[in-house]
Amino acid sequence: MSTATTHGGPQLPQERRLVTEIPGPRSRELFARKQSAVPPGIGTTLPVFVTHAGGGVIVDADGNSLIDFGSGIAVTNVGNAAPRVVERVQKQVADFTHTCFMVAPYESYVAVCEKLNELTPGDHEKRTFLVNSGAEAVENAVKVARHATGRQAVVVFDHGYHGRTLLTMTLTAKSMPYKHGFGPFAPEVYRVPLAYPFRWPTGPDNCAEEAAAQAIDMINKQIGAENVAAVVIEPIAGEGGFIEPARGFLPKIVEFCRANGIVFIADEVQTGFARTGHMFACEDEGIVPDIITTAKGIAGGLPLAAVTGRADLLDHVHSGGLGGTYGGNPLACEAALGVLETIEQDKLVDRARHIGEVMLPRLRAIQERNPIIGDVRGRGAMIAVELVVPGTKEPYPAAEIARRCHEQGLLALTAGTYGNVLRFLPPLVIPDHLLEEGLAILEKALNVE
Ligand SMILES: *Cc1c(COP(=O)(O)O)cnc(C)c1O
Repeated sequence: MSTATTHGGPQLPQERRLVTEIPGPRSRELFARKQSAVPPGIGTTLPVFVTHAGGGVIVDADGNSLIDFGSGIAVTNVGNAAPRVVERVQKQVADFTHTCFMVAPYESYVAVCEKLNELTPGDHEKRTFLVNSGAEAVENAVKVARHATGRQAVVVFDHGYHGRTLLTMTLTAKSMPYKHGFGPFAPEVYRVPLAYPFRWPTGPDNCAEEAAAQAIDMINKQIGAENVAAVVIEPIAGEGGFIEPARGFLPKIVEFCRANGIVFIADEVQTGFARTGHMFACEDEGIVPDIITTAKGIAGGLPLAAVTGRADLLDHVHSGGLGGTYGGNPLACEAALGVLETIEQDKLVDRARHIGEVMLPRLRAIQERNPIIGDVRGRGAMIAVELVVPGTKEPYPAAEIARRCHEQGLLALTAGTYGNVLRFLPPLVIPDHLLEEGLAILEKALNVE
């Protein structure tokens, strides 16, 4: 099937164009092959097979052009095949592809680390090292915190998501699908309440105070603060349903950590790199984490993740104690440098804010007309609606609405502990007319009666 251009990237026609039903015949053929070659454990949100993507669209094997409200799960913040990423990666792949940074180093790795030390919150002395995935970054942050404190316990929160490895699925809250049948889990992991305003039993007003008090009481009484190496938290819970902890909650947790020698780890794997209208979501309440983990948006789709933190913590680990064969692969490092240049030069932090300013009022207006939306929330280009059975807080399944969006050529993702959240993560370079068109499709899809 030929498309209008031979490459992806922002020059792809920025339009929704459906030429077959979704998924079309070619995608269905490929999906049948997938089902006999790939185990069902690897799920598929939208079974269209991609040939090109860029700007705000994804083009499939049948020639359909879909509006992208997913960014490959908050990864292609700069858009797919972003020009500065493409150029740098193409040059690098022809120069050399791998030496292993721990064997024979190269400059781009160091340049990415310097940039992250500079861009992450806080002007204290920092160090960064690179790994391959968000889960690997979180695991390594916990390793560093345990090494530096000599303590073992790790505290995580309700609705948290931190990955799928043995340790990080243990840190993750939700059983199905992430943990079910995969135990036994890692020891010394403790879960405490998150300030979830929409579902806080006494209402949103006292949520921050009460949730922080409960969390701190549990740490003191059930674990003992002096046994806790680290607290790990997402500044906005991603997979858990784009839950912004009630304002004041995060600062209280940070204050408690500081007072008790506990390493505060902000997992910004999903919220990082301009997504929320800040470079990092912690900036919103002036939080300065001891360690910050990043991945997803870092390298425009190439596998890369980072652990950035206080020099005294990261320098504590002995030589050779950290690393991995591929961590900070030269292609991924060049991609990351291209991403950081693009965010800066194309002012994508402002662009993310603009997306929020377009989406939030539109979604609130839809909420007034349609009580299936229980809550509208989010920051920048990380926006969600929580669906309820009208007149109640009973969860309404988001997958059904997402499917209706998909049929109309809008890629929307779901999330949430109760599976009732539609989340929107458009590439920050999406043009406004596609944003508007996507919202119009969504409004229709939400009319279930
Ligand atoms: C996606 C995600 C992870 C895991 O990242 P992977 O690259 O999939 O291993 C960890 N933490 C958060 C907050 C995430 O959103």
